[in-house]
Amino acid sequence: SSISHTPQICIVGSGPAGFYTAQHILKHNPKAHVDIYEKLPVPFGLVRFGVAPDHPEVKNVINTFTQTARSERCTFLGNVMVGRDVTVEELQAAYHAVVLSYGAEDKRELGIPGEDLPGVYSARDFVGWYNGLPDNRHLNPDLSCDTAVILGQGNVALDIARILLSPVDILRKTDITQAALDTLSKTRIRRVWMVGRRGPLQVAFTIKELREMINLPGARPKLDPADYMGLEKATKDLPRPRKRLTELLVKSAMEKPGKKVAVNWAQPEKEWGLRFFRSPLAVLPSEDGKRAACIRLSVTRLEGMGETAVAVPTGQVENISCGLIFSSIGYKSVSISSTVPFLPMQGVIPNSMGRVEGIPGLYCSGWVKRGPTGVITTTMTDSFDTAQAIFEDVQMGALNWSEPRAGSVTIRELLHLRGIQPVSFSDWEKIDEMETARGLAVGKPREKILDTEEMLQLVCR
Ligand code: FAD
Repeated sequence: SSISHTPQICIVGSGPAGFYTAQHILKHNPKAHVDIYEKLPVPFGLVRFGVAPDHPEVKNVINTFTQTARSERCTFLGNVMVGRDVTVEELQAAYHAVVLSYGAEDKRELGIPGEDLPGVYSARDFVGWYNGLPDNRHLNPDLSCDTAVILGQGNVALDIARILLSPVDILRKTDITQAALDTLSKTRIRRVWMVGRRGPLQVAFTIKELREMINLPGARPKLDPADYMGLEKATKDLPRPRKRLTELLVKSAMEKPGKKVAVNWAQPEKEWGLRFFRSPLAVLPSEDGKRAACIRLSVTRLEGMGETAVAVPTGQVENISCGLIFSSIGYKSVSISSTVPFLPMQGVIPNSMGRVEGIPGLYCSGWVKRGPTGVITTTMTDSFDTAQAIFEDVQMGALNWSEPRAGSVTIRELLHLRGIQPVSFSDWEKIDEMETARGLAVGKPREKILDTEEMLQLVCR
């Protein structure tokens, strides 16, 4: 029958990679059925738990993902952690193809003394906390000091700086959690340094993100003109985005600001700055040894040019007093099965165009495929590539969907035996409705539910 010949595809993870892979498969194979397994009761991965609350426009992709999820040929199974509740091998047996798109859940460690002192947070945990990630809801960061240092100069570092320095009345209108608002409204932080190993030509944020910092109400940049001297000449041969970004950095550091900005900068309560050519050596404790009080940095210089230049230590060191340190040096994927090859150093699954090395029928997309860099559109492109690889494999005979596979029928039985009740997409829509209603009551687009138990009770089964 035609039912038994339905191509059954399984996707692990419901972030952009999972949804874009599903979208491409459903669009280009009118018979295919796609099941998306997600460990949380709620979908969308870092679009919900990573993207900054004051960037709501970035989250519009959720509308497209929702359309995909509502397709009759797509099933969302939330609250199912692959590797714990069901194994990758079990999924492989039930489906024609399995796509691993479970992102990069872990953080990279600094590997320096003092890293575990109270007052030191990973960007991942802090971002998870203000965005309502259930795992981070008890973080309760202490913002009672005046200076924070962020190690890293990427877009996540800028997100954190912006959240720390934004007037709370601006954040009040976003979907940031109430707990984060309460803590941020009592913050004593006045100064935020973003520290990078390399120089102004290697910063990893965009001109739009820099402009937001420059225009942040009540805060002014402290940029040392010496850092930008002579850079103008170097910009000539740069690619256009890097050129414009560098020009804005140089202008902000060296020139008098325009009228509007000047008013904002005149009596700022808060300030932020970029410190270049510094790499972290140690976090030093307060006198009583109980918390972080200072970061010791090694002064570096660059060997090589442009994007590929590497920072080497000069032997000089510098201390910055600060009660709060965020390490924003990247995310890291983890292995979820001993049967799936994994490169721990790079934190990726070895693959060619999304085909997992040595395992026919197993694929990957997103951050677990290419490493934890790139924006949502980069993830979209690589997920479409993976879906395309599946279709090519079918054409070449490397993947065969003429034999029937039971898909979620078998897996649901297994889950039932193990006491796991999957959350459906319409269950999520109930959670979504409740969050939106709670948000509406306080003038926010949404008030996220922080407790997975509460979510599960809400879908009352
Ligand atoms: P993820 O989005 O992490 O999705 C992975 C999903 O898999 C998650 O839902 C997770 O719960 C689930 N999962 C994990 N393990 C399992 C398991 N064992 N079983 C089942 N499910 C599992 N990009 C932009 O374009 N604009 C921005 O403004 C922007 N801001 C960002 C801010 C931050 C702080 C971060 C970290 C990233 C940001 N990005 C932004 C990048 C963007 O979020 C990523 O490109 C994209 O989310 C990667 O998609 P992914 O699906 O590979 O991973």
